[in-house]
Amino acid sequence: MASEKEIKEIYENGMNILEDLTNNVQEIQEQLLEEILKRNAGTEYLSRFFPNGQADNQSFKTNVPIITYEDIQPYIDRIANGETSSILLAYRIIQFLLSTGTSGGQPKLIPMTAESFEKRMSDLLLSDLVTRKCFSGSDEGKSLYLYFIKPEMETPSGLKASFFTTFYFKTESFKNGLAKFCTSPIDTILCLDNKQSMFCQLLTGLLQRDEVVRFGSTFASVLARTIKFLEDYWRELCSNIRTGYLSDWIIDPGCKNAMSLILTRPNRELANSIQQICEDKSWEGIIVKLWPKIKYIHCIITGSMSQYVSLLEFYGGGIPLVSPIYNSSESSFGINLKPLSKPFDVSYTFLPNTAYFEFLPVSKDGEGKAQETWTDDEPVDLANVKLGRYYEVVVTTLAGLYRYTVGDVLKVTGFYNKSPQFQFVERRNVVLSIDVDKTTEEDLSKAIMKAKLILEPLGIMLTTYSSYADTSLTPGRYVLFWELKMKGSNDLPKLDAKIMEQCCCMVEESFDFTYKSHRKGGAISALEVRVVKHGTFDELMDFYVSKGVSVAQYKPPSCLKSEEAVMILNSGMVGKFFSPKTMF
Ligand code: AMP
Repeated sequence: MASEKEIKEIYENGMNILEDLTNNVQEIQEQLLEEILKRNAGTEYLSRFFPNGQADNQSFKTNVPIITYEDIQPYIDRIANGETSSILLAYRIIQFLLSTGTSGGQPKLIPMTAESFEKRMSDLLLSDLVTRKCFSGSDEGKSLYLYFIKPEMETPSGLKASFFTTFYFKTESFKNGLAKFCTSPIDTILCLDNKQSMFCQLLTGLLQRDEVVRFGSTFASVLARTIKFLEDYWRELCSNIRTGYLSDWIIDPGCKNAMSLILTRPNRELANSIQQICEDKSWEGIIVKLWPKIKYIHCIITGSMSQYVSLLEFYGGGIPLVSPIYNSSESSFGINLKPLSKPFDVSYTFLPNTAYFEFLPVSKDGEGKAQETWTDDEPVDLANVKLGRYYEVVVTTLAGLYRYTVGDVLKVTGFYNKSPQFQFVERRNVVLSIDVDKTTEEDLSKAIMKAKLILEPLGIMLTTYSSYADTSLTPGRYVLFWELKMKGSNDLPKLDAKIMEQCCCMVEESFDFTYKSHRKGGAISALEVRVVKHGTFDELMDFYVSKGVSVAQYKPPSCLKSEEAVMILNSGMVGKFFSPKTMF
């Protein structure tokens, strides 16, 4: 694990490390691949591809196939069932990471070694360093970071499997590093009951409101959830502060103990100021009102998280949103070297010492839509990607993944020294599909952003959305779920059928040629928007959390595949609207 010495080294020398990494991309990548092969070419998995025993970088690229999780799953399953991990990689697996991506409905298990954990840690530390450098004075205060864990699983072989965040929050690295700057006591983060954990973390954040300079979490969805919780519980939080007594439904021993050291006396004055702020009809800027020294909001806001940008801008009162890092259970990829970039301009600079990266060119049609299959072009190296082109990222790691497609499509937006910077575009496999039309996550997000512009002048906020392809009737239609509320309050807007119909039309207008031609030809029915009441998407999150997804890594699905999930959103429906039958 990253020792205190290593952490110190990164904080003292981090900018030089970054310069060195980004100036020597090609060399570092080639050396890393050599090292991976030196160690792992003899494993049962890889040795098949080197029949004459020659495992150099060139034969790796010619012989080893590009794969998905399903190709490697038999090896993972064998290890999970007790066979030695040396069938796949030379170093010992310390545990599996659970990915939020699934295979056949089950979470993917990704091997992790002590070394691969360290690599992720150094990327996290570098990213933290870059962000802090950008905001003077942010070193001094505390972070109100809402962090949560999920129970671990155990494989038949006794190896543990958990989400990365759960593993990380339990390490000494976290305890001796980031946790020292956090307002939340470690025991409140490690509480398995997310509701008790959230209450206690918000309570400690409010008790230390004058010290908080950073507000954040892993993903923007957690912060959206936090704001909703605050709306529901601020009175009770104030009452705890006023009386000095912790609510009696907080029964987790770790939370109780931690809170007894912080909630030590009644504080009427603080409770009154918080109450006054929360009683305001408009919650615009509530985050800076409650924590006046906050300099930035820190969480991932790209990809499927971009739907929370306007919500965080509203509640954050315009303070910068910083999207620090792009990573996954499989590997860390890159960090944001320009923390002040506007949310839709965020790019991540790849760090070449993390994994060996290759990029499959993805063709885009005239409207910027990714084709579902990649072209026949050969994959290119990190040092050879071209500005403005789209690629799907493929990783080879020290921890047992060889030419593994992660499923993310990225666009090259620039270079820092010699290291490419990428914008996250979409997850390749997340699509709405009817007939041969394939609507990607990015298509959907762009279309909804345009429709939102119709609602905004009316003071109506679209706080979150999802969708599904309703093929129960023929022809099928795309259904969008929208959670709407008024800007200054949680009130449901008066839904004007004409305006809502305009929104439906705008979404359809924004879709691509294939969609429109199928709609015109009658292969797809009129698009439907179902408006759901405030809080319905929280129920959706509860549902996924109950299925084992970690709150800290929850990403609201832009497209629903589960009937149960559709039912949950349907149960909160307060109105439905359609495009005109004939549109194009
Ligand atoms: P998981 O393995 O569960 O951590 O999920 C990893 C996936 O989350 C990635 O492959 C991306 O699709 C998504 N993801 C992670 N970081 C970002 C980011 N900064 N921007 C957009 N999507 C991200």
